[in-house]
Amino acid sequence: MHKDDILTELKKVLPEEIIKVDEPLKRYTYTQTGGNADFYLSPTTFEEVQAINHIARINNIPVTYLGNGSNIIIREGGIRGIVLSLLSMDYIKVEDNVIIAGSGAAIIDVSRTARDESLTGLEFACGIPGSIGGAVFMNAGAYGGEVRDCIDYAVCVNERGELVQLTRDELELGYRSSIVQKQHLVVLEAAFNLTPGKQDEIQAVMDDLTERRESKQPLEYPSCGSVFQRPPGHFAGKLIQDSDLQGHRIGGVEVSTKHAGFMVNVDNGTATDYEDLIHHVQQVVKEKFDVELHPEVRVIGDHPEDE
Ligand SMILES: Cc1cc2nc3c(=O)[nH]c(=O)nc-3n(C[C@H](O)[C@H](O)[C@H](O)COP(=O)(O)OP(=O)(O)OC[C@H]3O[C@@H](n4cnc5c(N)ncnc54)[C@H](O)[C@@H]3O)c2cc1C
Repeated sequence: MHKDDILTELKKVLPEEIIKVDEPLKRYTYTQTGGNADFYLSPTTFEEVQAINHIARINNIPVTYLGNGSNIIIREGGIRGIVLSLLSMDYIKVEDNVIIAGSGAAIIDVSRTARDESLTGLEFACGIPGSIGGAVFMNAGAYGGEVRDCIDYAVCVNERGELVQLTRDELELGYRSSIVQKQHLVVLEAAFNLTPGKQDEIQAVMDDLTERRESKQPLEYPSCGSVFQRPPGHFAGKLIQDSDLQGHRIGGVEVSTKHAGFMVNVDNGTATDYEDLIHHVQQVVKEKFDVELHPEVRVIGDHPEDE
């Protein structure tokens, strides 16, 4: 389908201000990499998400979902079809011990709301820079806590365009995995079941975790957090450190000297630099320790045309 025809279809069901054409994606990724999206749409309601999915389905247009862009590397060739950003659906509601949040709400803000309401259970998330949708997709976790511990349910749209509410068990949350990934669902909303606690104690835990994060992570540079999953029986960062790879640079991307599990964009690095560095690190660690490192970060989009 021609781009102009897609635009005409989209304008029939969406307000014009939420449609962007040929939008540079590096604006929306923590690594600051990424070419253009043919269409970048930021719907504000469930109905708009369903309408976009309907148009995409009947016209065979690929759809890529984007949260806060903190676990994604987008290649310089950009993304064909529709990039659907959930960030405008960022409401947070409190109902007794339950917090209900739109998929675009920052999990950091949800964690702070829980503290303000003296609810405990989401302290672990106080420094995770993802959206609620991205956090459910990844079963995000830190310092011994993860989404699985406190999520009640998530509202999603399935591949047939139907709204479905999935319970905690139905979400099949595992180590950085979920049914959302396996079934190409889109998360619209999630609810978290929390426990009444003492606000000063909740704050103390959050302060401690923030201190630990700021002292160990290179938060002053663009990055995508931990690049690799934890291999069984090992820590990716330790293997990389023991392979003398810290400070190793390809193009503008470097293995952080502060935290070996991070790769930082120090000088206008590209997604190609990230991919090359990821492959190099995988190769060296495999040769040295016979351990396979699998990326936690998602690398998506087209390669640049000149490759
Ligand atoms: C400095 C830094 C520190 C980090 N620390 C942690 C940490 O401690 N623990 C941790 O787990 N992670 C950490 N991360 C990684 C990242 O923040 C998490 O994985 C987060 O959950 C990703 O959410 P996001 O909204 O940014 O997702 P994105 O990066 O936008 O997307 C990630 C994946 O989720 C999909 N997705 C996003 N939203 C939806 C949706 N609504 N429906 C369906 N699919 C969706 C995307 O298609 C993509 O495949 C860190 C990252 C950085 C940069």
